[in-house]
Amino acid sequence: MEQENRETALREIALVPMGEVDPEVLSLLRDDLAGIFAAEVEIYPAVTLNRKHFVRGRGQYVADDLLRDLASVVQGPGIVLLGITGVDLFSPGMNFVFGIANCGRALLSVARLGREPSGGEVSPAVFRRRVLTEAVHELGHALGLQHCEFPGCVMYFSNWIGDTDRKGPGFCFRCARALERLMAGGGR
Ligand SMILES: [Zn+2]
Ligand SMILES: [Zn+2]
Repeated sequence: MEQENRETALREIALVPMGEVDPEVLSLLRDDLAGIFAAEVEIYPAVTLNRKHFVRGRGQYVADDLLRDLASVVQGPGIVLLGITGVDLFSPGMNFVFGIANCGRALLSVARLGREPSGGEVSPAVFRRRVLTEAVHELGHALGLQHCEFPGCVMYFSNWIGDTDRKGPGFCFRCARALERLMAGGGR
């Protein structure tokens, strides 16, 4: 007897700019993500940043609130959303986050990816790799993956940008296998 899957296979990653985002970042992400996930990658119209989610004293937006706003974007079966923003994000209990995710939705901020902790600007190649690494990490969560203890795996938790630079956008063998199952709609 054939078992019916409750979830649909992934067929599209929807890139949703939140506020103003460099179009170059979006098109690079579209190309790079298509090489990693077996899915279409589409750039969607931008969503307006809601100033209500801005915390003046910190100069940052509440990541969780932006992620919730993403839900207003049309969602269909087999579509996972990735919000991209240029503003800095935090989440309660954290000074900042590169991104966050929940089931079916992910959010990424590029605000901290273009500079070294010392303040210097990074090369376009390093920036591109960081953006891809953090995007893949959050999409991994949105698809159902947890953190991985292997420091070379993209699903390893990045405490600072050095962790991101070390791990890169690749999945370890175990996460790659789990992802394959999840993308096929096999549940978690
Ligand atoms: Zn994570
Ligand atoms: Zn892993």
